[in-house]
Amino acid sequence: MPQAIAQRQEATVSHRVNFWGRPSGGSTVSWDYESQKWVVKRPDDGSPALHRTVRCEVCNKALHYAIHSVEATRRRQARRRAGAYAGLVVLLVSLVSLITLEDSGAIRIALTATGILVGAVLGWVSGLAAADDMGVTGHGAAWPGATKHAVELVEPRPEELPELVCALCCHREEFPWGSHYRKGFVRKQYQAAATRLENHACRRA
Ligand SMILES: [Zn+2]
Ligand SMILES: [Zn+2]
Repeated sequence: MPQAIAQRQEATVSHRVNFWGRPSGGSTVSWDYESQKWVVKRPDDGSPALHRTVRCEVCNKALHYAIHSVEATRRRQARRRAGAYAGLVVLLVSLVSLITLEDSGAIRIALTATGILVGAVLGWVSGLAAADDMGVTGHGAAWPGATKHAVELVEPRPEELPELVCALCCHREEFPWGSHYRKGFVRKQYQAAATRLENHACRRA
C-alpha cells in the first residue's frame, strides 16, 4: 500500500546496527535500528525538491536527502507503478513469444529469456518501490530492503484517538498507533494510557 503523503510529516531516520538480519522467531528476520526523529517538510507543489541534511546520531554521518513535494511524490509513486505494469507486459509478451516460437533459433530463445528476466525484475522492483516511495530520496531511502540508513514516515495519529495530555501540567501519555497494529491492541493500549493519565501525579493539581 502506498504511504500517506502530507506536506508536513513526522518521520524517523534510523541507523541499522546489525549487518545481517537476526532471526526473530518463525521465518522472519529483524534488523536493529536506532531511530531519531525528523520532521519532513515538503516544498509546495510545483517547486523543486528541497535538500536537507540530517546528522546520524549513531555514526555521525551527514545524510543528504532530497524531499519532494506532495504532488511530485504521488507522480513518483505512479511512475513506479507504471514501471511495474511495463515489466508485467514485457514478461507476458516474452512468454507468449516463447510459447508461439516457430523456429527455435538460439538467438530468439536467448532474447525471449532475457525479456522474461528483465520483465520479472523490473516488475518486481518497481512494484516494491512504488509501495515504498515516500518522496524522500538519498542513501537508498526510496528503495526497499534493509539499507544502512532508513527513513520511515510516522503515520499521523488517528482522529478518533485524541492526544492524552494533562491540561494542567502538560504531562503526556504515549500510546501506539499505526495500520500495522491490530485495532483491538491499539484500543486497549489507548485505554491503559488514558487510565495512566487519570492517575498521574499532577504537579499542578
Ligand atoms: Zn548512521
Ligand atoms: Zn497533570
